[in-house]
Amino acid sequence: MSQTTAPPPAQGPAADDPARAWAPAGQALVAALAARLRDPLAGESAGNAAPGRAWPAPGDIPLDLSAPLPQAGRPADALLDQALPLLLDGLPPPDHPRALAHITAPVDPVAVLGSLLAAGLQANLGLRRMAGLACAIEAQTLAWLAELVGAPALRGGLLLGGGSAAGQTAVWAALARACPGWHEEGLGARGPRLVAYASAASHHWLDRALRLAGLGARGLRRLPVDAEQRLQPEALARALAADRRAGRIPWLLVAHAGTVGSGAVDPLAALAALARREGLWLHIDGAYGAPYAALRAEPGGADRLAACGAAALADPDGLNQADSLALDPHKALHQPLGCGALLLRRPETLPVAFADAPPYYADAEPAADPAPDPSQCGPENSRPFRALPLWLSLQAAGAQGLRASLRAELDGAAALRAALHASPAFVCGPGALGVQTFRPREGGEAAVGRLLARLRADGHAALSAVRLAGPDETTPAADAPRWLRACVVQGRGSAAERLARLPAELAARLDPGTVGD
Ligand SMILES: *Cc1c(COP(=O)(O)O)cnc(C)c1O
Repeated sequence: MSQTTAPPPAQGPAADDPARAWAPAGQALVAALAARLRDPLAGESAGNAAPGRAWPAPGDIPLDLSAPLPQAGRPADALLDQALPLLLDGLPPPDHPRALAHITAPVDPVAVLGSLLAAGLQANLGLRRMAGLACAIEAQTLAWLAELVGAPALRGGLLLGGGSAAGQTAVWAALARACPGWHEEGLGARGPRLVAYASAASHHWLDRALRLAGLGARGLRRLPVDAEQRLQPEALARALAADRRAGRIPWLLVAHAGTVGSGAVDPLAALAALARREGLWLHIDGAYGAPYAALRAEPGGADRLAACGAAALADPDGLNQADSLALDPHKALHQPLGCGALLLRRPETLPVAFADAPPYYADAEPAADPAPDPSQCGPENSRPFRALPLWLSLQAAGAQGLRASLRAELDGAAALRAALHASPAFVCGPGALGVQTFRPREGGEAAVGRLLARLRADGHAALSAVRLAGPDETTPAADAPRWLRACVVQGRGSAAERLARLPAELAARLDPGTVGD
C-alpha cells in the first residue's frame, strides 16, 4: 500500500479563468432566491389591499430578441448581475400567497438546493450501471410516496416530467396489456373497438395520449358528472354494458383524485370495484390531489378531507386499488417543475410496453442485475436525477412536516370557501380540496373578465377562469359561462385569515352597483 503522502498543492483555476466567477455569482443567485422565498410580499404593506406591482404580462418582454449570439464570452458574475433583476421582476412571483391562478406551488428551498446538486452530479438514471445509487434513491423515493398516501400496493414506477407524462406512460402500459400482439402488430384488429372511460372533467393529457396511440377521439367515452363534477359509477356501468353490447372492448378507466378544474375527487372505491369486475385498467389521475390522502393518517384527517369534498381520499380502498396512479410532486409537494410520479401495482408491466434491446448497450451483465433498466420502463432514455430534490425534501420535512403543509392548504381553502359563501358579491360553483370556483353574483361574463383584468393590472392576486361541464354534458360547452378559479397550494403560506379577507378585497374591485347587498 502506498505511504501517506501530502496532497498535491491545490491548483485552483487561474485568476483570469472565467469559471472562477461562478462562485460569487452562484452565491448572489442563492442569496436572491433566499430573499425572494423569505419575503414574497416585499414591497407590499402587510394586510393592505392597496395596488401593488402589476402581474407581469406575458407579452411584455424587456429583452432585445433580435440580438445575435455574443461572439466573445463575458464573466459570469456580470451576466448574473444583469440577469437576476430581469428574471425576478419579469416573472410572476412563485410564492405570492395570493398567486391562486394555477396549481403551481411555491418550491421548497431544500429542493432548490437538491436541484443544483442533481444538476452538478449529472447522474444519468437511464441505465442502472451508470448511476445505481441514484436509481436506488429514486426507488426509495417512490416507495415513500406510496407510503405517504397510504397506497402500499403500488410497488414501484418512475419519476417523469409531470402528471401528463405519467398518465401517458400508464396508458401505453395499459394498451400493451390490452393488445396481446402489441410489439409486432401494434393495436391490431382490436384497435378500432377499444374504448377508454373518463369523466367530463378529465385533463386533456388523456385525449392527447389516446390520439397519439392511434385511437383517436372515438377511443374515449366521456361520461357526465354530478353537481360536484364527480364521475358516477352507475353512469359508467350503463355505458360499459351498452358498449359491450355494441361489440366494443372496454380496457381503461381514468378516475380523478382532484380534477384540474375544480378539485373533484371521484368515488374511488366504487369505481375501483367496478373496474376490477369489468377487467379494466384503473388509472387514478391524482396529479394534483393524491398527496392530500396523507392527511388520513392523522387524528381528524378523515373529517378534514370529508369537509372539503374528498372523503374518497380517506378510504383505504381508494388510491391503493389503482393499477396506476399519477401524483405530481411539483404541485402539492412543492418540488421544482418537471417532477411527476407514476406508481404501479405491477411495475413489471412497464417493460412489456417499453423494453427494447439496443445493440449499443451491449455492456450489460444480465445475470448480475436482472431488474430492467429505467430506460426500458418508460419513454425517456437519458433520465435526470429528479428524485434527489424530492428525496431530500421528504426527509427534511418528514411526514409530519408534509402533512402540516397539506393541512394548511386545505384550511386556507376552507376559509376562502366559507368567506365566498358568506359574501353578497359572489356565488360559488363546484370546489373540492384546495380549489374553489365562483363568479360575481351580478354582471355575467363581462364582470368575470373585468375582475381578471383589474387583478392583472394591480397585482393584488392572481385568479384563473374555467368552463365546467353541466349536468348531462360529456365535455364543457365552448360557450359555457366561465367560473373564476382559486387554487390554494401555498403550503404553510396559505394563511386562513389572509384568504378569508380575499372575497371582500375582490368585491372592492367589482363595478359599483354589481356587488349586491
Ligand atoms: C396538473 C394536472 C395534470 C397535468 O400535470 P402536468 O404535471 O402539468 O403534466 C393532469 N391532471 C391533473 C388532475 C392535474 O391537476
